[in-house]
Amino acid sequence: MKKQLSLSSLSIVILVVLSICLLTISLGYRFFVEIPNEKLAVLKLQNRDLDRIISTTVHMGDALAQMNYGYAILEDTYNYITQPNDDYIDTNFSTNVFQNLEIDGAFILDTSGKTIFQKGLDHMTLKPLDFKQLLIEQKLIHAGLLKQASTTDKALVGTINTNVGLMVYALTAIYDSDITEQTNGFLLFLQRFDKNFVSELEEQVKIKLTILPYSDDFQDYPILSDEISNVTTIEQIKYRVLQDEMGIPSLVLRITHLNVYKETLLTKELLITLLIQLIIMLLIFWLIRIKVVKPLLQVNTAITNMNDKQNLIKLHHRSRIGEFHLLVKHFNHMVEIVNSQQQQLSELSLTDALTQIPNRLAFEKKFTQEWAHLQRNQTPFAIVMCDIDYFKKYNDSLGHLAGDDALVKVAQALTLSSRRINDMVARYGGEEFIILFSGIELAGLKMKLTEMIESIEMLEILHPDSSVSKSITISIGATLMTPPRKSTEKMNLVRAIGIADNALYQAKNNGRNQAKIVFDK
Ligand code: GH3
Ligand code: MG
Ligand code: MG
Repeated sequence: MKKQLSLSSLSIVILVVLSICLLTISLGYRFFVEIPNEKLAVLKLQNRDLDRIISTTVHMGDALAQMNYGYAILEDTYNYITQPNDDYIDTNFSTNVFQNLEIDGAFILDTSGKTIFQKGLDHMTLKPLDFKQLLIEQKLIHAGLLKQASTTDKALVGTINTNVGLMVYALTAIYDSDITEQTNGFLLFLQRFDKNFVSELEEQVKIKLTILPYSDDFQDYPILSDEISNVTTIEQIKYRVLQDEMGIPSLVLRITHLNVYKETLLTKELLITLLIQLIIMLLIFWLIRIKVVKPLLQVNTAITNMNDKQNLIKLHHRSRIGEFHLLVKHFNHMVEIVNSQQQQLSELSLTDALTQIPNRLAFEKKFTQEWAHLQRNQTPFAIVMCDIDYFKKYNDSLGHLAGDDALVKVAQALTLSSRRINDMVARYGGEEFIILFSGIELAGLKMKLTEMIESIEMLEILHPDSSVSKSITISIGATLMTPPRKSTEKMNLVRAIGIADNALYQAKNNGRNQAKIVFDK
C-alpha cells in the first residue's frame, strides 16, 4: 500500500516549499534587479569622475594653448626670428614668466623646424631642464605638427615625449601682427606632464590621481581620451594610459574613485526582510496547525478510539471552520442514527416475537449481569423452569393459533408474578419459560411457585384434552442455590438449569400441575 502522508507532515512540507520559494524570489530580486541597479549607479558616478578628469585635462591644455597663441602673434616674436636679440628673451622668457605661465619649456623654431631659441626650466623647482632640441625638432616634423600648425590659425595642443619626460605642448605658427600670408617660424610651449601637473589636476577634479611609468602590464588598458561609455567595470582603482604625439603609450594615470561598490548578496535589509517573511510563515503555519490540523487530529483520535471500543459517541469538537463544524455535526447525527438503530436491533434480538417478553438470550445476559452481584454478596437465587402441560394436545385439538394465544397469556401471567427489579421471566423455548428469582429464601420461593400455578389456573384457558384439569395448567421445576465463591456464571447457569429441568421432570411424573424444588448436592 502507498505510504500515507500525514496532515502534520503535509503542513511542514508546504511550509518548507513556501519558505524556499520566498527565499528564491527574494534572492533572485536582489541578484537580478537590485545589484545590477546599484552597480549601474556606482558606474555612473565613476564615469562622471572620468569625464571630469578628461575635460579638466583638455581645459588645462587649452589654457596653455591660449598663452602660446598670445605670444605667437606678438610683433616682437615675429621680429625675433629675423633678428634674434637678447632683449626679447629677457623680457618674455624670464624665470618669472616661466613661473607665471606655469611652463617648463619654450622653443622658437624657424619654418624648417630648426631651433632658434630654447629654454628649459622647471617652473616649480626652478632647476634648468636640458631638452635635447634635435629630438624635439625631429618629433615635431615626424608627427607633421609643424605642417598642421602652419595651416591653422590657432594653437595645436597635445602631448609629446621628450628626453625629460612626457610634456603637454602648445604649438602656434608665428605671423606678423598684420597676419601676412607667410609664417616665419613656430612658438612651442612645453609643460611637464608630471606629479605637479597631476596634483593640480587632482585639486580641480577632487579625485585621487597618481602617475606611473608605462609598462607592458598596461597594454590592454584604455587610453585617457577613450570613450567613457565603453567602461563597464566598477573597480575602485582604474588605469588610463597617456600617449605621446605619435600615439605611443608613455605614462599611466592611476585613478582612485571615491565611489566604491562591494557586492553583497545578503544585505542587512534583505536579512531583516527574510526574517519577517519567516516569522509570517511560522505564524501562518501555527494558525493552520491550531485551527485545522489539531482539531482534525483530535477528531481522528476520538473516532479511532470509538472504532477500537466499538462504541459510537458524539464529538464535542468546536471550530470556526464551516466545513469542520458541518463534519462534526453530520458525524454526530450519524452517531444518533446508528445508536438508535443498534438499540432497536438489540431490543429486537432480546425480545421474543410472539409473547413480547425477554427471550433466552436476554435471560443469559441478565444472568451474567446479576452474577457478579450475587457472588459478591453471597445472595441465594432460584432458577425456575415452567412447562405447559399437554400443550401438544392443546394445539392438536384447538389449533396452533389458539396455542399461540394461550402462550401469550401464560407469558403475561408469569411476568406478573415476578415483579421485583432483579427478577426476570423469559421464554426459554417452545412452551417453556425460565425465571430467575434473586435474593429469595425457600419459604418465599415456595409461595411464589404456588402463586404461579394458581395464576395460570385462574386464566381459565379451556383445555379439552387435558387429563389434569379443564383448563391449561403448568408444571414447575426449581432449584435454590447460593453462588459458590469460585466459579463462572455460565457454568452455574447450565448447572442450575440442569437441576431445575430434573425437578420439572419429577413434577411431570408426579402428575403435573404442581411444582417441585430440587437442591444442589
Ligand atoms: P407435557 O405435558 O409432557 O409437557 O406434554 P406436551 O405436549 O406439552 O409436551 P411436548 O414438549 O411434547 O409438546 C410441546 C408442544 O408445544 C409441541 C408444540 O406443538 C407446542 N409448541 C411449541 N411452541 C409453540 C408455539 O410457539 N406455538 C404453538 N401454538 N405451539 C407451540
Ligand atoms: Mg415442553
Ligand atoms: Mg409441555
